[in-house]
Amino acid sequence: MQTIAERLNSTREGIVQATALAHRPPNSVKLLAVSKTKPVSQINLAYEAGQRLFGENYIQEGVEKVQALQHLDDIEWHMIGPIQSNKTKLVAEHFNWVQSIDREKIARRLSEQRPQELGPLYVCIQVNIDSEVSKSGVAPDDVASLATAIEQLPNLKLRGLMAIPKANAREEEQHNSLCKLQELFDSVGTSRPEFDTLSVGMSGDMQAAIANGSTMVRVGTAIFGART
Ligand SMILES: *Cc1c(COP(=O)(O)O)cnc(C)c1O
Repeated sequence: MQTIAERLNSTREGIVQATALAHRPPNSVKLLAVSKTKPVSQINLAYEAGQRLFGENYIQEGVEKVQALQHLDDIEWHMIGPIQSNKTKLVAEHFNWVQSIDREKIARRLSEQRPQELGPLYVCIQVNIDSEVSKSGVAPDDVASLATAIEQLPNLKLRGLMAIPKANAREEEQHNSLCKLQELFDSVGTSRPEFDTLSVGMSGDMQAAIANGSTMVRVGTAIFGART
């Protein structure tokens, strides 16, 4: 069995190779280690192997891990799962980023509840790029107006888009949705210098996402193993 450090290294190598194939600089894609359902001890191992960005999907579980690892104060915690409005305070108080914004109401509450001393909460709008009924995220046509609304909120800083393209799509279909996402990212990012994050690509579609402009891949299984 491979260790977490070895799996992290192969993932990093995969990113470097994919950026080379796409004629992009090797450091143009960040790696978010998705640690949902995995114990704090495994996050510690990844941290010791140099990993600093971690993503969690479930609020209660994520907050417990943030608290347990408070002493590692250079970890950057990203919330990537759905947020109900009665949980926004916990998120605003414990996370550095929220990638799963899909409603103005959630954004407004996060801004109101963000403690001043923590500085701005970085956020991405989650886009339902393939218009799947089963997935959260705003429709592509509604991204621009939500971006404008978020920019009015004093304690949030809009950093980009997040998407989860359809799993098991055929290559052409996958390519089309990644292209559509990249075009949307470019158009919403026009005249927004801090809009620099396109969060797309997971264990199974990391290479394709990097070929289509991803600046952050969110990888769980390939680093921590399968989830039960
Ligand atoms: C679980 C999850 C991931 C990681 O998926 P893997 O296939 O395990 O790499 C990435 N993004 C989101 C939003 C997730 O929920």
